[in-house]
Amino acid sequence: MKKRILLLAMVSMIMLMAVACGSKDCKAKNCSNDIYEDGLCEVHYFEKALKDGLKDLEGLFD
Ligand SMILES: [Zn+2]
Repeated sequence: MKKRILLLAMVSMIMLMAVACGSKDCKAKNCSNDIYEDGLCEVHYFEKALKDGLKDLEGLFD
């Protein structure tokens, strides 16, 4: 009985670790870099920031 509880605890710990590890990766497709900001790695975060900045610029000229 005790072994079963220990096994359950271990399985849930492994699952929690897997989830925690998964959320550490960049949100971008095919990218597994560590998160820098906003769920994105450094490269993709700046890429997104650049795109957002360009959108804002476009909005200014409308
Ligand atoms: Zn990335």
